[in-house]
Amino acid sequence: MTDTVFFDLDNTILDFNKAERMALSRTLEALGIPPTEGVCARYSAINLAQWKLLEKGLISRREVKLGRFGLLFKELGVDASPEQAAAAYESLLGIGHYFMEGAQELLLELRGRYRLYLVTNGTAAVQHGRLKSADLPKYFEDIFISEEIGFNKPDVRYFERCFERIPDFKKEKAVIVGDSLSSDIQGGVNAGLRTVWFHLAGAAGVPQGTAGGGDVPVPDWEIQRLSELPGLLERI
Ligand SMILES: [Mg+2]
Repeated sequence: MTDTVFFDLDNTILDFNKAERMALSRTLEALGIPPTEGVCARYSAINLAQWKLLEKGLISRREVKLGRFGLLFKELGVDASPEQAAAAYESLLGIGHYFMEGAQELLLELRGRYRLYLVTNGTAAVQHGRLKSADLPKYFEDIFISEEIGFNKPDVRYFERCFERIPDFKKEKAVIVGDSLSSDIQGGVNAGLRTVWFHLAGAAGVPQGTAGGGDVPVPDWEIQRLSELPGLLERI
């Protein structure tokens, strides 16, 4: 039986990709760099690589924030300030929010039936802005932002700090739902939680031939639409 659900935020409840594209385009425009599809794609690739380094504990959050713009500008041969870009980008990101399909309906349905918690690796200032603008705090018992916790998913210490703040917490009655294998599913595995991988149809998934091997964690369950979750939670 399940009584507690941990939700990832970005690309699980809120459409981060869309918010990121908007904030990035406006930031680049303000710096006089045309936000072409190619430039935005390079930023996304660089950003993802920087986050993976953070998840592995190899670089700091500040290095991610500045490094992703610094590396992009270097690659483009542009003389622009990463600090200025990072500040503009963060303030723009804190303003907008877009829901993933079915996310609001899902939260309305689950609220009151389960204890819901948010577990997110974002930056505190940005995440608080987006949560408030999306009116999300009302659905959750508590919100755990990694910058405030002091560790990032998938570090087991991140989850231990969260568990400490939940009254009468029983791991075996909890489940984590998220779109990222490396932070949500790996984090769940590390912390001893059951895992549900939200894997949108058509999104990149487990590379062929590596499932169950190498360093790719295997989720307990997989859903392609958020509307599949209430039925699954009743069964597990
Ligand atoms: Mg996510």
